[in-house]
Amino acid sequence: MRSILKEDRMKSMPGRHSANQRKTLKMALRTTKSKIRRDSRVVRSVEAAIVDLKSRLKLFHDKVNDSQNQQSRIEANLLLFLDFSPEFTAKRSELLKFAADMERKDITVKEAEDAASRYDECQKVFQEEYCPHRFLVGYSAYEGSSSNDYDDAYPSYRACAICQTSENDYKNFKLLNLAAGDRLLYRVSGRSLDKEMTDTLKNLADKPMKVIIDFYQNTIANDYWRIDRSESKPA
Ligand SMILES: [Zn+2]
Repeated sequence: MRSILKEDRMKSMPGRHSANQRKTLKMALRTTKSKIRRDSRVVRSVEAAIVDLKSRLKLFHDKVNDSQNQQSRIEANLLLFLDFSPEFTAKRSELLKFAADMERKDITVKEAEDAASRYDECQKVFQEEYCPHRFLVGYSAYEGSSSNDYDDAYPSYRACAICQTSENDYKNFKLLNLAAGDRLLYRVSGRSLDKEMTDTLKNLADKPMKVIIDFYQNTIANDYWRIDRSESKPA
């Protein structure tokens, strides 16, 4: 009976009840607002840090790229200055001598023919047994387009600037099969060497090694000469 009376009393003072609730709610609102302000500050500072980190990340990506390019150039230069074996040097001198004999004006036609056949014989041995095929020119295979039923596919091509051995293949080269990283490849775009490059290659064949190395060194700073890592040595 008593409790009912008390309840009735409370019901008769609605103003006081909601004033307490408003006070509680206002405090909760203040607390929440200040929490939002505090957390928003953290969000802004983290966002700023992310922007900063992203720009630092880009900077370091660029630095790594630059260093990798530099590494490639240094490694390419190292390949240029790698010693050749004495056997290679001796065999190439022999080849160059036969080439010079062929050009002599003071010999008979028969002697010139003999010099030519000695040159061919020597070149074959040199290509197969002595040349390290370190400096190559070539282009990559193209798998063809679906719109052409892959009829426009073509194989990779490589030619050795030292001994003129050349080879076409879709995947694994049999003769010019240096491990990736052990060869310098001038990668020509498209599917053929232009006349200038063909002539340049031919012209290098009978020049002293220094001329070939100078030729490569002069072009190594551009974007074309690269240590080729793209195709692996056949198993
Ligand atoms: Zn070669």
